[in-house]
Amino acid sequence: MLLAAPLFALPETPPEALAALADRPGAVVVAGGTEVMPDLLWRTRTAAGFVSLRRVAALRGIARTDGELVIGATTPVAALTSAPDAGLRAAASSLGTPLVRTEATIGGNVISALPYRNLLPTLLAGGATLELTSATGSRAVPFDGFITAPGRTGLAEGELLTAVRLPAHRGFADYTKVGRRNAQFVATVSAAIVSRDGGARLAFGNAAPIPFRSDDVDTAATALLDGQASAADLQAAVAAAVDPPEDTIASADYRRHALGVLAVRLVTRAAVDGGLGA
Ligand SMILES: Cc1cc2nc3c(=O)[nH]c(=O)nc-3n(C[C@H](O)[C@H](O)[C@H](O)COP(=O)(O)OP(=O)(O)OC[C@H]3O[C@@H](n4cnc5c(N)ncnc54)[C@H](O)[C@@H]3O)c2cc1C
Repeated sequence: MLLAAPLFALPETPPEALAALADRPGAVVVAGGTEVMPDLLWRTRTAAGFVSLRRVAALRGIARTDGELVIGATTPVAALTSAPDAGLRAAASSLGTPLVRTEATIGGNVISALPYRNLLPTLLAGGATLELTSATGSRAVPFDGFITAPGRTGLAEGELLTAVRLPAHRGFADYTKVGRRNAQFVATVSAAIVSRDGGARLAFGNAAPIPFRSDDVDTAATALLDGQASAADLQAAVAAAVDPPEDTIASADYRRHALGVLAVRLVTRAAVDGGLGA
């Protein structure tokens, strides 16, 4: 007689984790559990089993390679607060509380796929690539386009997010958010800036159903930095591009205004810092 696979798996390597997932149809992957556990508690998610990534050491850590940072999917947010990327540091430092940051992982933030999650604007502005691994091998997909709707991604059945690759840059990068309070509250809106290809690249949280960026906004931001446009021009470009949600936390109009303010704030910080750098 075949015994059913135990409900809970604690694999130690990526292949073991993939095999454990294949053995448990309907199982939920758990990294830090800071999304999964509240979801189970509030009964907004069901699970036919669990595959914990906690003991998969190969998925944790930050490495610098040729021109990019390779961040293992289960690297805790606490480790990102000292990552060699200023934008990532800023976004990680304002995520949750010290306790949450110790457990929460970059992979869980990405796969949660909610437009207000802290790390997502920085990954979008920075041109991140995701490494997705299945039993048949790995594929690299751009982060831009990976999130298709709130809570939905291009991750296939049986696939794991194994790493996030962020191109290195020597220029300015930062992140800022507005919320009802500084800790333990989701961002009402957020924004990240990264200097790329000689210009400013901005991305926003809660500006649309998915993390959002626009060439028009980047053109206006770069023009403001070069003294060719005003702060009002950048705010107008942001207001025209975004389509923010309306909910009990804030109106769409408030968000549209606040997103413009955050864009100007980040470009001003870049200017004070000496421009976009290399
Ligand atoms: C009190 C509190 C405060 C919070 N504050 C913030 C905040 O300020 N900003 C913010 O952005 N978030 C916040 N969060 C949400 C949460 O902490 C983050 O989104 C965190 O990064 C999730 O990571 P995790 O490892 O805990 O995810 P988990 O709960 O383990 O997983 C989240 C989702 O991702 C999937 N998953 C995880 N890893 C992988 C992988 N490698 N491959 C495939 N699927 C995977 C899981 O199956 C699940 O669907 C808060 C949470 C709490 C409880």
